Amino acid sequence: MEAVLQNPRLMIPGPVEADDDVLAAIGAQTLPHYGAAWMRLFDETTQLLQQLFGTKGSVLMIPGPGTAALEGAISSLVPRGESIVTLDNGFFGSRMVQIVEACGIHAPAVRAEWGQPVEPDALRRALEAIVPRARADGQQVRAVAIVHHETSTGVLNPVRELAAVAGEFDLAVIVDAVASFGGVPVEFDAWGLDACASVPNKCLGAPPGVAVMAVSERAWEMAKANPTPHGWYLDLKTWAWYIENWGDWHPYPTTMPTNNVAALHAALEKVLAHGPEHHFASIQWAADCTRAGMQELGFTLFPAPDAAAPVISALITRPDVSPADLQAYLARHGLMISGGLGELKGKIIRVGHMGRAKEPAVVEALLEAVEGFLKEKAQNH
Ligand SMILES: *Cc1c(COP(=O)(O)O)cnc(C)c1O
Repeated sequence: MEAVLQNPRLMIPGPVEADDDVLAAIGAQTLPHYGAAWMRLFDETTQLLQQLFGTKGSVLMIPGPGTAALEGAISSLVPRGESIVTLDNGFFGSRMVQIVEACGIHAPAVRAEWGQPVEPDALRRALEAIVPRARADGQQVRAVAIVHHETSTGVLNPVRELAAVAGEFDLAVIVDAVASFGGVPVEFDAWGLDACASVPNKCLGAPPGVAVMAVSERAWEMAKANPTPHGWYLDLKTWAWYIENWGDWHPYPTTMPTNNVAALHAALEKVLAHGPEHHFASIQWAADCTRAGMQELGFTLFPAPDAAAPVISALITRPDVSPADLQAYLARHGLMISGGLGELKGKIIRVGHMGRAKEPAVVEALLEAVEGFLKEKAQNH
């Protein structure tokens, strides 16, 4: 019982539980971050990432959380005092506004209600107003920042269409794909993206510790031309220098978390083994199954149904069910789910479908436990 309580099944929106072979990879003896054996692993991992990002260009592995990569992209690409139009329809959109502003960059926001996607037409209308206004104020809009899967609401923003609108204004596109990469298609080159960041510990099913980011040619040029990067380590110009000058043995400025990269490599091989569509479908299956079961029990999907991502299910609880009580009951039965963030706290629950949470037995265990909770509740009244 003690062990169950200490190690619940993680059905939260990340981090996720990894498969045993991924854990074996991270548990193998540490390699130095240079030398032939490591470089083989590094190059292969880079190629697998390129394949999944849909890019022939650069992919970086940056030690740290997804936020490190995002902050690096934002502060490297755009000089202080200029603007990044930032899409905000949830907790992580608001976080992006905070990151942009912390870098000394203006973040005029295009907002949509929580639970709704940001529509491409809304972005176009906003840019038609913001771009000339910025210019009149003597500065420039340089980029658009988009959260792909807004994990606080379960909404998938239409990045392909939004990036096309940014393209009409010749703006770079920075994407937080932390909770979408590996769960739904991301086509970096075809969609015209410039920086797209993610992590191993959501849809890829590996432990946290290293961020990944695809970087376009235009992004490298913007970074090299930026006179005001706000640091050294997360400045893409620093990374470019190491790729260009130390490329054959150490194409990054610092020590690499080689164990984390080994786990990422193992996870990517699994995601790509039968084609990524197969992996996407297994997450979608868990989402469909969970939603059907929970709706039968009286819960309602929170996001607009045609904008709901498969990655998590954000569900409005029945009026007689407090999210905290349900979470506590599930915790006693070895299952960990999440509640709402920000304005959705106390209103919704969030169930992740990534990592081992997508296994049929785990989905079944959740539905059974929720049924048990409702039965117990009915008996106590
Ligand atoms: C989890 C998450 C983050 C935070 O990622 P870190 O690795 O903790 O920096 C950012 N954005 C989205 C959309 C997320 O789901």
